[in-house]
Amino acid sequence: MMRRNQRHRAFDPDPAAPDRSCDLPGCQERAGYRAPRSRQTLNDYFWFCLDHVREYNARWDYYKGMSPGQIEAHLRADVSWNRPSWRLGHLGGAAAFDEEQLLDPLGLLRGSAESRVRAKQRAHAVDPRPEALRQPLETLGLDWPVSLAEVKSRYKDLARRHHPDANGGDRAAEERLKTINVAYTALKQHLAETRLARTG
Ligand SMILES: [Zn+2]
Repeated sequence: MMRRNQRHRAFDPDPAAPDRSCDLPGCQERAGYRAPRSRQTLNDYFWFCLDHVREYNARWDYYKGMSPGQIEAHLRADVSWNRPSWRLGHLGGAAAFDEEQLLDPLGLLRGSAESRVRAKQRAHAVDPRPEALRQPLETLGLDWPVSLAEVKSRYKDLARRHHPDANGGDRAAEERLKTINVAYTALKQHLAETRLARTG
């Protein structure tokens, strides 16, 4: 909708917006509005169209405590933002479940019988992720088990989005890209080694 009068000036696109489309996967609208990627990185932004920056801001509390990689994963998993609820168990693992509980102050996700059963299973489940890979998986927002192809594709996506050049040379973006690179290297190495062990 093109409503351009003085009263809506606050919603004019940000002049610093990069020349690209909205960060929500599948949205082709021009990205004119910024939103911080996480509470830890307030100087680093997603760029959305007006509709999606509003949606994102409305969900701000939901993303509390997530790493940028996890937020990315949620944005990608949830392309249609019009759905009334988020996919359950998307992140997988006991730690992720605790986080979902934490992120659900109104208990919306706990209501269904399915989620109660899941809660019980997870309370007794042992984290299946290899110890050394837990942090890398969290950083990239990936489930376990994961394929090398999935790791590569997530890495490519995150590296592109968090690249300092795409963020005005931002130092925070540079630091995060380093963290992403370390996580990627650890996962890639582990998956390559287990593949060798299986075939050799
Ligand atoms: Zn959009």
